[in-house]
Amino acid sequence: ARGVDGARVALLGLGRSGLAAARSLRAGGADPLCWDDNPDARTRAEAEGFACTDLRRDGAFDEVAFLLLSPGIPHLYPAPNPVVTAALAAGVPVDNDIGLFFRSFATADWDGFDTTPRIVAVTGSNGKSTTSALIHHILTCAHRPAQLAGNIGRGVLDIEPAVDGEVVVLELSSYQTELARALTPDIAVFTNLSPDHLDRHGGMGGYFAAKRRLFSEGGPDRAVIGVDEPEGRFLAGQMAEGPADDRVIRVSVAGKLTGPGWSVVARKGFLVEMRKGRQAASIDLRPITGLPGVHNHQNACCAYATCRALGLAPRVIEAGFRSYPGLPHRSQIVAQAGGVLYVNDSKATNVDSAAKALSAFPNIRWICGGLEKEGGLAGLAAATGSVLKAYVIGREAAGFAVQLNVPTEICGTMDEAVARAMSEAAPGDTVLLAPAAASFDQYDNFEQRGDDFTARVRQRLDR
Ligand code: ADP
Repeated sequence: ARGVDGARVALLGLGRSGLAAARSLRAGGADPLCWDDNPDARTRAEAEGFACTDLRRDGAFDEVAFLLLSPGIPHLYPAPNPVVTAALAAGVPVDNDIGLFFRSFATADWDGFDTTPRIVAVTGSNGKSTTSALIHHILTCAHRPAQLAGNIGRGVLDIEPAVDGEVVVLELSSYQTELARALTPDIAVFTNLSPDHLDRHGGMGGYFAAKRRLFSEGGPDRAVIGVDEPEGRFLAGQMAEGPADDRVIRVSVAGKLTGPGWSVVARKGFLVEMRKGRQAASIDLRPITGLPGVHNHQNACCAYATCRALGLAPRVIEAGFRSYPGLPHRSQIVAQAGGVLYVNDSKATNVDSAAKALSAFPNIRWICGGLEKEGGLAGLAAATGSVLKAYVIGREAAGFAVQLNVPTEICGTMDEAVARAMSEAAPGDTVLLAPAAASFDQYDNFEQRGDDFTARVRQRLDR
């Protein structure tokens, strides 16, 4: 496998991406030692010819070069998986597919290209997928060869650069950036920071530190940094040699940014690029239907800055914005009937993303609730100005509802919530699913929850 150089690799976690990693390692000539605590997962791996061995037993890590961990397996907080503990006790380093990708990228397989593919890595609390997909879409529209991978699109170990000068756009979660042993993108993007997944990182400091790793040491050639939170401002300050340093492109939608540096801001629905204190370009974002709301304007600014750093012209980027179709489950308009807009934002699993969705639409009949995230719902109060009523779902609906400062009705199920919201909606209203909570009390994942919402809305409209 790339960069493995014949060493034995142990692989923990045989879900979809674990198996993909196993296949990729095998294709590269390194047969991994596999393990998953779930016997069904092991059976599936064995059916593909992978050797499973209990990595918890004594001596399991003899002659193992490193342990490759699948996403979702805790390596530190709340407590490391016992296999991780065993590896570290044996002095064996732990890595993930992203780290392996970057380590091997610097060496073997990518040779033979004069200009290596450029790597763009996107991180942040919210907007990663939208920003990554948008960058990829703009590049594709501009006929620049590009691939989308990481947390979205294909697994990184499946990337094969097809042509010289290709751009690889990687979406990276905080779990991925925390664990990866190498992180050397050419352009690193930081969208924003708000509390999420704190249990996995031992608090806000750990969460920020995980994301920051993308910007550390030698660092990327260019950094695109959202500076509307103190963490982003700090990061930009640390990266730049001085206020006018072109290596950092600052992004703001809060309207406070000044200074001589390179920046991209959104103001009153317009994207404005500033360079050396002068306006370099501007784009009217208001007619762009695929990117509703100020939060999407932030994503648009991050994507714009990245594409400018890749050498694209403003008008080319604008054309990409216009044809961007949007991603499912992110402020996705799923129906429009009787003057009522139906919006699926099932991906709003935390308070900040739900607040953003609530501020993007008028007269909201808000379907929310599910598994509450650490930190409670306090941050939502300021964002509920256009909410007419909340229809609360989830097993903990009653406990959720009492924390809201709007009229509420406890519905429990999605079907009931959709039925109630639709029966009360008047022309000009928006029926919005933006749960501000995880889905696992009622669904396998947020996609299933969003699909359920969409199907029930469409069923009722068809009646
Ligand atoms: P991520 O990949 O970081 O989870 P997504 O693009 O999938 O980001 O969006 C996740 C959720 O956050 C969606 O509910 C979306 O509407 C909302 N959102 C998107 N962009 C932003 C942003 N820049 N700031 C806050 N919320 C956002």
